[in-house]
Amino acid sequence: MKFGEVKIEAIQGDITKQDDIEAIVNAANAQLQMGGGVAGAIHTAAGRELSEETKPLAPIRPGQAVITNGYNLPNKYIIHTLGPVYGFNQPEEKFLADCYKNSLVLAEDHHIESIAFPAISTGAFGYPFEQAMEIAFSTVHDFAKNAKSVKLIRFVLFSEKDFEQYKNKLNSLG
Ligand code: ADP
Repeated sequence: MKFGEVKIEAIQGDITKQDDIEAIVNAANAQLQMGGGVAGAIHTAAGRELSEETKPLAPIRPGQAVITNGYNLPNKYIIHTLGPVYGFNQPEEKFLADCYKNSLVLAEDHHIESIAFPAISTGAFGYPFEQAMEIAFSTVHDFAKNAKSVKLIRFVLFSEKDFEQYKNKLNSLG
């Protein structure tokens, strides 16, 4: 699906295996350390040097994003953002939108052309999947209108079920 000059796509897969993408987004924890889910997979694949770089950048607030090198990952950069914990960090809609927006602003600042997002906050942080998906789409869609460097935005969904929902959403838009 194309929004202006920006291609938005969804795939089923692992965020750490996106070889053709310049920056991947980490659904990080405030301390920017290992943890479970996406953060665990990213730190494991990137290697120990990553936590050396993230240590002085922590803690981050919900909605904030910071950028590091990709180390052993196939990506040049990792953008780390802290999603809201559903029912706890309010207003959660704004914080979740900020995660997508601030990650894309950082990508533009670094002249990044391609970026991949996981479904932020929908794992350990408990955000209802469909509500989080609507926020992801509307934020990315708004941003796409004014994008300069970013040409490809990929949503990477871990499960078949999650991927189907994104696919249906994309189809409904196009
Ligand atoms: P959060 O703490 O922001 O909720 P999680 O890492 O717990 O983040 O989960 C976010 C989403 O990422 C969930 O939908 C989960 O199924 C998915 N996920 C977990 N591991 C991976 C991975 N390796 N690649 C892509 N998505 C993943």
